[in-house]
Amino acid sequence: MTAALDINVTKVETSKLLDMSLENIPFGKYFTDHMLEADYENGEWKNVEIKPYQPLLMEPSMAALHYGQAIFEGIKAYRDQEGNVSIFRPLDNFKRFNISAERMQMPTVPEEIFMEGMRLLIDIDRNWVPSMKDHSLYIRPFMFSSDPVIGVKPSESYKFMIILSPTGPYYTAPMKIYVEEKYTRAAPGGVGFSKNAGNYGASMLATAQAKKAGYDQVLWTDAFEHRYLQEVGTMNVFFIIGNTAITPSLEEGTILAGVTRDSAMEVLKDMGFEVIEKKISIEDLMDAHRAGLLYEVFGTGTAATISLIKELRYKDYVMNFDTDKWKTAPELKARLTDIREGRAADTHGWMFRV
Ligand code: PMP
Repeated sequence: MTAALDINVTKVETSKLLDMSLENIPFGKYFTDHMLEADYENGEWKNVEIKPYQPLLMEPSMAALHYGQAIFEGIKAYRDQEGNVSIFRPLDNFKRFNISAERMQMPTVPEEIFMEGMRLLIDIDRNWVPSMKDHSLYIRPFMFSSDPVIGVKPSESYKFMIILSPTGPYYTAPMKIYVEEKYTRAAPGGVGFSKNAGNYGASMLATAQAKKAGYDQVLWTDAFEHRYLQEVGTMNVFFIIGNTAITPSLEEGTILAGVTRDSAMEVLKDMGFEVIEKKISIEDLMDAHRAGLLYEVFGTGTAATISLIKELRYKDYVMNFDTDKWKTAPELKARLTDIREGRAADTHGWMFRV
Protein backbone atom coordinates (compact mmCIF):
# COMPACT_ATOMS: atom_id res chain seq x y z
CA MET A 1 0.00 0.00 0.00
CA THR A 2 1.29 3.46 -0.92
CA ALA A 3 0.07 6.91 0.02
CA ALA A 4 -1.38 7.73 -3.40
CA LEU A 5 -2.75 4.36 -4.30
CA ASP A 6 -4.15 1.38 -2.51
CA ILE A 7 -2.50 -1.70 -3.99
CA ASN A 8 -3.06 -5.08 -2.45
CA VAL A 9 0.16 -7.11 -2.67
CA THR A 10 0.41 -10.90 -2.42
CA LYS A 11 3.90 -12.26 -3.01
CA VAL A 12 5.03 -15.68 -4.21
CA GLU A 13 6.56 -18.03 -1.68
CA THR A 14 9.42 -19.10 -3.93
CA SER A 15 10.75 -17.15 -6.91
CA LYS A 16 10.88 -18.95 -10.27
CA LEU A 17 14.20 -17.17 -10.78
CA LEU A 18 15.93 -19.76 -8.61
CA ASP A 19 15.49 -22.26 -11.46
CA MET A 20 16.51 -20.12 -14.43
CA SER A 21 19.17 -17.88 -15.94
CA LEU A 22 18.45 -14.52 -17.52
CA GLU A 23 21.29 -14.79 -20.02
CA ASN A 24 20.26 -14.76 -23.71
CA ILE A 25 16.67 -15.38 -22.76
CA PRO A 26 14.28 -15.37 -25.79
CA PHE A 27 11.83 -12.48 -26.22
CA GLY A 28 8.39 -12.75 -24.64
CA LYS A 29 8.50 -16.36 -23.45
CA TYR A 30 9.18 -16.15 -19.74
CA PHE A 31 7.31 -14.04 -17.20
CA THR A 32 8.32 -12.79 -13.78
CA ASP A 33 6.87 -13.92 -10.45
CA HIS A 34 4.16 -11.27 -10.20
CA MET A 35 1.55 -9.40 -12.25
CA LEU A 36 -0.73 -6.42 -11.71
CA GLU A 37 -4.47 -6.64 -12.15
CA ALA A 38 -7.20 -4.00 -11.76
CA ASP A 39 -10.92 -4.05 -12.55
CA TYR A 40 -13.17 -1.39 -14.02
CA GLU A 41 -16.75 -1.81 -12.82
CA ASN A 42 -19.68 0.58 -12.39
CA GLY A 43 -17.66 3.49 -13.76
CA GLU A 44 -14.59 3.17 -11.54
CA TRP A 45 -11.30 1.36 -11.23
CA LYS A 46 -11.00 -0.94 -8.22
CA ASN A 47 -9.27 -4.06 -6.84
CA VAL A 48 -5.75 -2.94 -7.80
CA GLU A 49 -3.69 -5.98 -6.98
CA ILE A 50 -0.18 -7.31 -7.42
CA LYS A 51 -0.19 -11.07 -7.12
CA PRO A 52 1.62 -14.19 -8.35
CA TYR A 53 1.64 -14.52 -12.17
CA GLN A 54 -1.19 -16.92 -12.96
CA PRO A 55 -3.82 -17.87 -15.58
CA LEU A 56 -7.05 -15.89 -15.86
CA LEU A 57 -10.46 -17.44 -15.49
CA MET A 58 -12.90 -16.14 -18.10
CA GLU A 59 -16.32 -16.83 -19.54
CA PRO A 60 -16.44 -17.95 -23.20
CA SER A 61 -18.74 -14.96 -23.78
CA MET A 62 -16.09 -12.48 -22.63
CA ALA A 63 -16.51 -9.44 -24.89
CA ALA A 64 -12.85 -8.86 -25.82
CA LEU A 65 -12.67 -12.29 -27.46
CA HIS A 66 -15.56 -11.42 -29.76
CA TYR A 67 -15.45 -7.69 -30.46
CA GLY A 68 -11.82 -6.80 -29.92
CA GLN A 69 -11.80 -4.01 -27.37
CA ALA A 70 -8.21 -4.82 -26.43
CA ILE A 71 -5.19 -2.51 -26.27
CA PHE A 72 -1.61 -2.83 -25.07
CA GLU A 73 1.75 -1.15 -24.64
CA GLY A 74 5.39 -2.22 -24.83
CA ILE A 75 8.00 -0.61 -22.59
CA LYS A 76 11.45 -1.63 -21.33
CA ALA A 77 13.29 -1.32 -18.01
CA TYR A 78 17.06 -1.51 -17.72
CA ARG A 79 19.66 -2.01 -15.01
CA ASP A 80 22.68 0.31 -14.99
CA GLN A 81 26.23 -0.51 -13.84
CA GLU A 82 25.44 0.60 -10.28
CA GLY A 83 22.48 -1.80 -10.19
CA ASN A 84 19.79 0.90 -10.38
CA VAL A 85 16.68 -0.02 -12.35
CA SER A 86 15.06 2.58 -14.65
CA ILE A 87 12.19 2.51 -17.14
CA PHE A 88 12.57 4.18 -20.55
CA ARG A 89 9.97 6.97 -21.09
CA PRO A 90 7.03 5.19 -19.41
CA LEU A 91 4.95 8.37 -19.20
CA ASP A 92 4.91 8.54 -23.00
CA ASN A 93 3.56 4.99 -23.17
CA PHE A 94 1.01 5.83 -20.48
CA LYS A 95 -0.29 8.74 -22.60
CA ARG A 96 -0.37 6.62 -25.75
CA PHE A 97 -2.23 3.88 -23.85
CA ASN A 98 -5.03 6.26 -22.98
CA ILE A 99 -5.14 7.60 -26.56
CA SER A 100 -5.69 3.98 -27.66
CA ALA A 101 -8.32 3.53 -24.93
CA GLU A 102 -10.31 6.55 -26.11
CA ARG A 103 -10.24 5.45 -29.73
CA MET A 104 -11.52 1.99 -28.75
CA GLN A 105 -14.30 3.46 -26.56
CA MET A 106 -12.66 2.06 -23.42
CA PRO A 107 -12.16 3.81 -20.06
CA THR A 108 -8.84 5.57 -19.54
CA VAL A 109 -6.54 4.25 -16.81
CA PRO A 110 -5.57 6.75 -14.08
CA GLU A 111 -1.91 7.76 -14.07
CA GLU A 112 -1.32 6.51 -10.53
CA ILE A 113 -2.55 2.99 -11.34
CA PHE A 114 -0.50 2.78 -14.55
CA MET A 115 2.68 4.48 -13.34
CA GLU A 116 2.81 3.64 -9.64
CA GLY A 117 1.40 0.16 -10.29
CA MET A 118 4.15 -0.45 -12.88
CA ARG A 119 6.86 1.01 -10.64
CA LEU A 120 5.83 -1.10 -7.65
CA LEU A 121 5.46 -4.28 -9.72
CA ILE A 122 8.97 -3.83 -11.13
CA ASP A 123 10.29 -2.98 -7.68
CA ILE A 124 8.88 -6.27 -6.37
CA ASP A 125 10.31 -8.22 -9.34
CA ARG A 126 13.53 -6.15 -9.34
CA ASN A 127 15.75 -9.26 -9.40
CA TRP A 128 14.31 -10.10 -12.81
CA VAL A 129 15.82 -7.03 -14.50
CA PRO A 130 18.92 -8.42 -16.25
CA SER A 131 22.24 -6.62 -15.92
CA MET A 132 23.93 -7.99 -19.05
CA LYS A 133 24.48 -5.68 -22.01
CA ASP A 134 21.51 -5.50 -24.43
CA HIS A 135 19.27 -7.30 -21.92
CA SER A 136 16.19 -5.68 -20.40
CA LEU A 137 12.86 -6.28 -18.75
CA TYR A 138 10.00 -5.97 -21.24
CA ILE A 139 6.85 -4.47 -19.69
CA ARG A 140 3.47 -5.30 -21.17
CA PRO A 141 0.52 -3.24 -19.85
CA PHE A 142 -2.80 -4.20 -21.47
CA MET A 143 -6.54 -3.73 -21.10
CA PHE A 144 -9.50 -5.67 -22.44
CA SER A 145 -13.27 -5.63 -22.19
CA SER A 146 -14.54 -8.26 -19.78
CA ASP A 147 -18.35 -8.24 -19.90
CA PRO A 148 -19.64 -11.82 -20.15
CA VAL A 149 -22.20 -10.66 -22.71
CA ILE A 150 -22.56 -11.23 -26.45
CA GLY A 151 -23.65 -8.14 -28.42
CA VAL A 152 -21.75 -5.42 -30.26
CA LYS A 153 -21.52 -2.54 -27.78
CA PRO A 154 -18.87 -1.08 -25.51
CA SER A 155 -18.36 -3.31 -22.50
CA GLU A 156 -19.23 -2.07 -19.03
CA SER A 157 -16.38 -3.91 -17.31
CA TYR A 158 -12.68 -4.02 -18.19
CA LYS A 159 -9.48 -5.48 -16.86
CA PHE A 160 -6.17 -3.63 -16.81
CA MET A 161 -3.06 -5.75 -16.29
CA ILE A 162 0.72 -5.50 -16.41
CA ILE A 163 2.98 -8.50 -16.95
CA LEU A 164 6.79 -8.47 -17.16
CA SER A 165 9.12 -10.53 -19.31
CA PRO A 166 12.93 -10.54 -19.05
CA THR A 167 14.56 -10.47 -22.47
CA GLY A 168 17.98 -10.90 -23.99
CA PRO A 169 19.46 -9.13 -27.03
CA TYR A 170 16.77 -8.75 -29.67
CA TYR A 171 19.16 -8.93 -32.57
CA THR A 172 17.65 -8.69 -36.00
CA ALA A 173 19.89 -9.18 -38.98
CA PRO A 174 19.58 -6.43 -41.63
CA MET A 175 16.17 -6.94 -43.21
CA LYS A 176 14.80 -7.47 -46.71
CA ILE A 177 11.63 -5.45 -47.07
CA TYR A 178 8.79 -5.66 -49.57
CA VAL A 179 6.82 -2.50 -50.29
CA GLU A 180 3.20 -3.60 -49.77
CA GLU A 181 0.71 -2.72 -52.51
CA LYS A 182 -2.21 -5.00 -51.86
CA TYR A 183 -2.92 -5.02 -48.12
CA THR A 184 -3.41 -1.96 -45.92
CA ARG A 185 -2.49 -1.54 -42.26
CA ALA A 186 -4.47 1.63 -41.58
CA ALA A 187 -6.65 4.24 -43.26
CA PRO A 188 -7.48 7.83 -42.26
CA GLY A 189 -10.36 7.73 -39.78
CA GLY A 190 -9.34 4.24 -38.74
CA VAL A 191 -7.30 2.92 -35.81
CA GLY A 192 -3.70 3.00 -37.09
CA PHE A 193 -2.56 5.44 -34.41
CA SER A 194 -3.86 3.23 -31.62
CA LYS A 195 -2.13 0.18 -30.25
CA ASN A 196 -5.09 -2.16 -30.35
CA ALA A 197 -4.83 -5.92 -30.71
CA GLY A 198 -6.77 -6.06 -33.99
CA ASN A 199 -4.14 -4.05 -35.86
CA TYR A 200 -1.67 -6.85 -35.27
CA GLY A 201 -4.05 -9.66 -36.22
CA ALA A 202 -4.88 -7.76 -39.42
CA SER A 203 -1.22 -7.43 -40.39
CA MET A 204 -0.26 -11.08 -40.21
CA LEU A 205 -1.44 -12.28 -43.62
CA ALA A 206 0.56 -9.62 -45.49
CA THR A 207 3.65 -10.38 -43.41
CA ALA A 208 3.27 -14.13 -43.95
CA GLN A 209 3.00 -13.64 -47.72
CA ALA A 210 6.07 -11.37 -47.76
CA LYS A 211 7.97 -14.04 -45.80
CA LYS A 212 6.93 -16.71 -48.27
CA ALA A 213 8.35 -14.54 -51.04
CA GLY A 214 11.68 -14.28 -49.20
CA TYR A 215 11.27 -10.99 -47.34
CA ASP A 216 11.41 -10.29 -43.61
CA GLN A 217 8.69 -7.69 -43.39
CA VAL A 218 6.55 -5.30 -45.40
CA LEU A 219 6.79 -1.54 -45.73
CA TRP A 220 3.17 -0.44 -45.39
CA THR A 221 1.82 2.15 -47.80
CA ASP A 222 -1.28 4.38 -47.70
CA ALA A 223 -4.75 2.90 -48.14
CA PHE A 224 -5.74 4.76 -51.33
CA GLU A 225 -2.81 4.83 -53.73
CA HIS A 226 -0.33 2.49 -52.05
CA ARG A 227 2.36 5.12 -52.66
CA TYR A 228 2.88 6.99 -49.41
CA LEU A 229 5.20 5.20 -46.99
CA GLN A 230 3.90 4.47 -43.49
CA GLU A 231 5.66 1.97 -41.22
CA VAL A 232 7.86 -1.07 -41.58
CA GLY A 233 6.20 -4.09 -39.94
CA THR A 234 5.66 -3.01 -36.33
CA MET A 235 8.30 -0.29 -36.47
CA ASN A 236 8.41 3.32 -37.55
CA VAL A 237 10.62 3.99 -40.56
CA PHE A 238 13.44 6.50 -41.17
CA PHE A 239 15.27 7.45 -44.35
CA ILE A 240 18.64 9.18 -44.34
CA ILE A 241 18.66 11.27 -47.51
CA GLY A 242 21.67 13.53 -47.88
CA ASN A 243 22.07 15.33 -44.56
CA THR A 244 18.41 14.97 -43.56
CA ALA A 245 16.62 12.27 -41.61
CA ILE A 246 13.08 11.86 -42.89
CA THR A 247 10.23 9.97 -41.23
CA PRO A 248 6.57 9.87 -42.34
CA SER A 249 4.40 12.42 -40.52
CA LEU A 250 1.71 11.35 -38.06
CA GLU A 251 -0.91 13.85 -39.30
CA GLU A 252 -3.30 11.41 -40.96
CA GLY A 253 -3.59 9.15 -37.91
CA THR A 254 -2.49 6.04 -39.81
CA ILE A 255 0.86 5.64 -38.06
CA LEU A 256 1.63 4.68 -34.46
CA ALA A 257 3.50 7.49 -32.68
CA GLY A 258 6.49 5.38 -31.61
CA VAL A 259 8.35 6.35 -28.46
CA THR A 260 11.55 5.13 -30.14
CA ARG A 261 10.62 7.23 -33.20
CA ASP A 262 10.43 10.34 -31.04
CA SER A 263 13.67 9.41 -29.23
CA ALA A 264 15.43 8.74 -32.56
CA MET A 265 14.36 12.16 -33.85
CA GLU A 266 15.91 13.81 -30.78
CA VAL A 267 19.15 11.84 -30.94
CA LEU A 268 19.47 12.40 -34.72
CA LYS A 269 19.23 16.14 -34.01
CA ASP A 270 21.95 15.69 -31.34
CA MET A 271 24.01 14.04 -34.10
CA GLY A 272 23.62 17.10 -36.35
CA PHE A 273 20.89 15.91 -38.70
CA GLU A 274 18.01 17.99 -39.87
CA VAL A 275 14.99 15.84 -38.96
CA ILE A 276 11.90 16.19 -41.13
CA GLU A 277 8.46 14.66 -40.61
CA LYS A 278 6.58 14.63 -43.91
CA LYS A 279 4.48 12.70 -46.34
CA ILE A 280 6.95 10.74 -48.44
CA SER A 281 6.13 8.54 -51.42
CA ILE A 282 7.89 5.54 -52.87
CA GLU A 283 8.65 7.67 -55.98
CA ASP A 284 10.40 10.28 -53.78
CA LEU A 285 12.46 7.48 -52.28
CA MET A 286 13.36 5.96 -55.65
CA ASP A 287 14.35 9.41 -56.96
CA ALA A 288 16.69 9.87 -53.98
CA HIS A 289 18.09 6.38 -54.57
CA ARG A 290 18.71 7.05 -58.29
CA ALA A 291 20.45 10.32 -57.36
CA GLY A 292 22.73 8.39 -54.98
CA LEU A 293 21.37 10.32 -51.98
CA LEU A 294 19.46 7.58 -50.16
CA TYR A 295 22.10 6.51 -47.69
CA GLU A 296 20.27 4.53 -45.01
CA VAL A 297 16.83 3.08 -44.27
CA PHE A 298 15.92 1.69 -40.85
CA GLY A 299 13.06 0.85 -38.51
CA THR A 300 12.67 2.01 -34.90
CA GLY A 301 10.79 0.28 -32.08
CA THR A 302 10.99 -0.76 -28.45
CA ALA A 303 11.73 -4.43 -29.17
CA ALA A 304 14.76 -4.10 -31.47
CA THR A 305 15.52 -0.36 -31.00
CA ILE A 306 16.93 0.14 -34.52
CA SER A 307 16.66 -2.41 -37.37
CA LEU A 308 18.70 -1.88 -40.49
CA ILE A 309 17.20 -2.49 -43.93
CA LYS A 310 19.53 -3.99 -46.53
CA GLU A 311 17.04 -4.44 -49.36
CA LEU A 312 13.87 -2.63 -50.31
CA ARG A 313 11.76 -3.88 -53.20
CA TYR A 314 8.99 -1.98 -54.97
CA LYS A 315 7.55 -3.80 -57.99
CA ASP A 316 10.66 -4.54 -60.09
CA TYR A 317 12.79 -1.83 -58.54
CA VAL A 318 15.22 -3.18 -55.95
CA MET A 319 17.29 -0.95 -53.69
CA ASN A 320 20.27 -2.68 -52.11
CA PHE A 321 22.39 -1.24 -49.32
CA ASP A 322 25.73 -2.25 -47.86
CA THR A 323 24.75 -1.87 -44.21
CA ASP A 324 28.31 -2.69 -43.06
CA LYS A 325 29.34 0.73 -44.34
CA TRP A 326 26.57 2.63 -42.55
CA LYS A 327 27.44 5.18 -39.89
CA THR A 328 24.18 6.80 -38.82
CA ALA A 329 21.86 3.96 -37.78
CA PRO A 330 24.58 2.10 -35.82
CA GLU A 331 25.60 5.31 -34.03
CA LEU A 332 21.95 6.13 -33.27
CA LYS A 333 21.44 2.63 -31.87
CA ALA A 334 24.60 2.84 -29.74
CA ARG A 335 23.61 6.25 -28.37
CA LEU A 336 20.10 5.10 -27.47
CA THR A 337 21.36 1.87 -25.88
CA ASP A 338 24.00 3.75 -23.87
CA ILE A 339 21.36 6.11 -22.47
CA ARG A 340 19.05 3.22 -21.61
CA GLU A 341 21.70 1.08 -19.98
CA GLY A 342 23.14 4.02 -18.06
CA ARG A 343 26.49 4.33 -19.90
CA ALA A 344 25.65 7.79 -21.26
CA ALA A 345 24.15 10.82 -19.52
CA ASP A 346 20.36 11.00 -19.69
CA THR A 347 20.39 14.51 -21.15
CA HIS A 348 16.79 14.25 -22.38
CA GLY A 349 15.36 13.13 -19.02
CA TRP A 350 14.06 9.84 -20.42
CA MET A 351 14.91 7.43 -17.61
CA PHE A 352 12.34 6.90 -14.85
CA ARG A 353 13.96 5.44 -11.72
CA VAL A 354 12.11 2.52 -10.11
N1 PMP B 1 4.55 0.95 -35.11
C1 PMP B 1 3.83 -0.09 -34.67
C2 PMP B 1 2.66 -0.55 -35.47
C3 PMP B 1 4.20 -0.73 -33.47
O1 PMP B 1 3.50 -1.78 -33.01
C4 PMP B 1 5.32 -0.27 -32.75
C5 PMP B 1 5.75 -0.95 -31.49
N2 PMP B 1 5.02 -0.47 -30.37
C6 PMP B 1 6.02 0.85 -33.25
C7 PMP B 1 5.60 1.43 -34.43
C8 PMP B 1 7.19 1.42 -32.51
O2 PMP B 1 6.74 2.05 -31.33
P1 PMP B 1 7.67 2.18 -30.07
O3 PMP B 1 8.90 2.86 -30.51
O4 PMP B 1 6.89 2.99 -29.10
O5 PMP B 1 7.94 0.79 -29.59
